[in-house]
Amino acid sequence: MRLIRNVLARHGRGAHHRIRRPLPLVLTLLLLLAGAAACAGGDAALPGARDGQDAAGLGQLKGQARRQGQEQQGQERQGREEQGREEQDQEQQAPAPPKVKLTPEQRLAAAQRWGLDQAPLVAPSPPREKPRLTTPEWADQGPDLIPAPAHVPTDQKIAFLTIDDGAAKDREFLDMVRDLQIPLSAFLTDESAAEDYGYFRDLHALGVSIQNHTLHHPQMNHISEDEQYTEICGQQDILEREIGVRPTLFRPPFGDFDADTLAVAEECGTRAAPLWNEEAFADRMDFRHDDQRFHPGDIILTHFNGPKAWGGTMCDMLRTVLRKVTEQGYALARLEDYA
Ligand SMILES: [Zn+2]
Repeated sequence: MRLIRNVLARHGRGAHHRIRRPLPLVLTLLLLLAGAAACAGGDAALPGARDGQDAAGLGQLKGQARRQGQEQQGQERQGREEQGREEQDQEQQAPAPPKVKLTPEQRLAAAQRWGLDQAPLVAPSPPREKPRLTTPEWADQGPDLIPAPAHVPTDQKIAFLTIDDGAAKDREFLDMVRDLQIPLSAFLTDESAAEDYGYFRDLHALGVSIQNHTLHHPQMNHISEDEQYTEICGQQDILEREIGVRPTLFRPPFGDFDADTLAVAEECGTRAAPLWNEEAFADRMDFRHDDQRFHPGDIILTHFNGPKAWGGTMCDMLRTVLRKVTEQGYALARLEDYA
């Protein structure tokens, strides 16, 4: 089971300490076009599908290109990027709606409309200062890297639901998230999400944070550092263009990564690479903890899936999660407010 696997290959470090400067604009555009063409060519892949060949193609283009022209343009662009990042941080940290706060009676009525006996618990306000995240021992890749947390340090009974890839674009799920005011984070792969970024703009408008899950969903520790750069920075650019916000979190596909991945993710502007302690399906949950319970601050993984992939809908998955967390006294919170 992937949840428990995560024996991560250790990669030679050293290369990722050098500061990488952004590509010239024209080349970046070329790469984005190549990425879009590659995505348009394939069916929307279900989660778990691998697409290493596309990644490899893009990586070849870039490796050489990155070293050319960066001398002239690097510094100026870097300055602009830093300024941009500060602005984006402020944007990202803006509190999510709920625009209308539901009364307990309204919450219960909404829950019952969606087939739940109990209203989901409401998380307390997030802390003013985000907690310091750490990487669990089983995922550790060495010092001086951004964290890859499987949980957020907190005493509160909260958990974070994170949804990956973007294959299923279920409109009923949007309604459920809106009615129940569920905080979520979505980690999008371009090859799965690209056919309808409008769906994810609608999710984002409900306060769902949209984060990075690569262009083509490769196993990051099996591709070169240059290819990893293309996969992460390329998706940063696409999400910024499509959603209007540059992601601050990066989730490695399959939970597989090496030290280079985390160094590149930081270069591309993300500050953490969240993993998970639970995985949710339409009809069940898998727990990493031996006691088969949530622990405070746990991150839950699930996917944009449908009946073909897991025998139920996105709403079935959300019902399963809400029943489990509520029964154990937990509320869902939004990862981005803590990480
Ligand atoms: Zn994935």
